[in-house]
Amino acid sequence: MTDTFDFVVVGGGSGGCAVASRLSEDPGTSVALLEAGGECNNWVVTSPGAMILMIAGKVNNWAFDTVPQAGLNGRIGYQPRGKGLGGSSAITAMVYIRGHRSDYDQWASLGNTGWSYADVLPYFKRSEDNSELDGEYHGKGGPLHVTGLRSDNPVRDIYLQAAREAQFRIREDFNAEEQEGLGTYQVTQNNGERWSAARGYIHPFMATRANLRVETQAQATRILFEGKRAVGVEYRQGKNVRQIRARREVILSSGAFQSPQLLMLSGVGDGAALAKHGIATTHHLPGVGQNLQDHPDFVFGFTSDAPYFAGLSFAGIARIFKGIAQYRRERRGPMTSNIAECGGFLKTRPDLEVPDIQLHFCMAMVNDHGRKPRWGTGFSCHVCLLRPKSRGSVWLQSTDPMRRRRSIRTSSAKMPISMSWSRASRRPGGCLTRPRSKRCRPRTCSPKASKPTKIFAKFCASALTPSIIRSAPARWASMRWRWSIRS
Ligand SMILES: Cc1cc2nc3c(=O)[nH]c(=O)nc-3n(C[C@H](O)[C@H](O)[C@H](O)COP(=O)(O)OP(=O)(O)OC[C@H]3O[C@@H](n4cnc5c(N)ncnc54)[C@H](O)[C@@H]3O)c2cc1C
Repeated sequence: MTDTFDFVVVGGGSGGCAVASRLSEDPGTSVALLEAGGECNNWVVTSPGAMILMIAGKVNNWAFDTVPQAGLNGRIGYQPRGKGLGGSSAITAMVYIRGHRSDYDQWASLGNTGWSYADVLPYFKRSEDNSELDGEYHGKGGPLHVTGLRSDNPVRDIYLQAAREAQFRIREDFNAEEQEGLGTYQVTQNNGERWSAARGYIHPFMATRANLRVETQAQATRILFEGKRAVGVEYRQGKNVRQIRARREVILSSGAFQSPQLLMLSGVGDGAALAKHGIATTHHLPGVGQNLQDHPDFVFGFTSDAPYFAGLSFAGIARIFKGIAQYRRERRGPMTSNIAECGGFLKTRPDLEVPDIQLHFCMAMVNDHGRKPRWGTGFSCHVCLLRPKSRGSVWLQSTDPMRRRRSIRTSSAKMPISMSWSRASRRPGGCLTRPRSKRCRPRTCSPKASKPTKIFAKFCASALTPSIIRSAPARWASMRWRWSIRS
């Protein structure tokens, strides 16, 4: 017999956990949550320092690859995505950041009623249990713990001091009236442990709410339709193929790549493209999988033997072991670090209304999501473009949902970001290399191969003067952006 629930939620990630939990608060409403991965309630998820085991590999991670990108010299990109209850919130850097208020207002202006900043703020507040901040923009008592870091890394103060000397605005709270400025990030942690969406919204209720059924290792393969009405989901669990019915709604929360994938597998998408795969069209909706947006991120890595950074060196490894012991004793110290401890939001031109780049200052040399470790300790500065103009798309490579090599592509447009990016690249370096930050002793800078970064490294090396780095890697100005993803 097929089980029937009021709501069937597909994907137990950040969104799916919240929606399944809130719906099932009413004991009269039955909810089923299907999640392709596991429960994600062990130390690999809860210990912030174990993040590298997930982001760089396949533990709780779909670990998608892009198809080769003509616009990036044929490079294959990497797209980690969380797999398991909590979804990507189980593998993230835990930085607690909301969108800029203008993002929500723009969504509302496009006709999305209920999505303006004024509309969503009460929900942010309701979700939050912020141990440090209160008032107009923050909440207490919600399921999502938000707090300051317990890593006790003195580099945070050095960073702030350098930022002040460089005359950047210091921001205590990035989720309040204004976002622009540099500071230290709040994180989704509780008592030094990662607080994923599952820990806040689902784990506490799995055994206590009779009206909530959570199925893990359950991958949805098809939405079931009666006419154009979604009435249930077919899913694979181990070797079994099962069906589950929804009296009221099927809610897709399988992430930016896999929600469109599931729609297309179910015949919802561009009819002609679906026909090429032999999929009968249930509903011709050409927008499915289109308009994919991603934010490119450039990393400047610096080696440093200052004793504050993670990495592979004899001293670095000794610090990791010491850190593990401290974490087990006190839930404090370097193993509670989210690595991206500081950063902020900047405008690359004064005439911009909202910041267009985000910086992450990482207490390790994070090269290609940690997939290219190198010997030595150091730090890295990430420059992330927040509002790229490039748009892409997601499409099917296979009709077999269980096949790992499914295909997702974002197509290209000329990259109008490049000038702002090159402007942006001066700023984190300029901040880092001020006299006081000599305590961090940056030595070499990676990636080494390209001429622009060699120029940048040269400036970093000669950074005993407080001058702001002036050279911009001009070659980026003509860079083109082409991006596609394969798993
Ligand atoms: C490495 C990394 C670091 C990040 N760092 C931060 C950060 O520091 N701060 C921040 O604010 N944001 C961060 N993000 C972004 C943030 O995690 C995501 O924006 C957010 O989690 C997306 O939520 P979601 O519910 O849309 O998708 P996800 O949380 O990705 O959830 C999708 C879920 O659906 C499941 N699923 C997929 N297909 C199926 C299927 N067919 N059947 C059943 N289940 C399925 C997946 O297994 C997954 O659990 C980071 C993301 C990544 C990948």
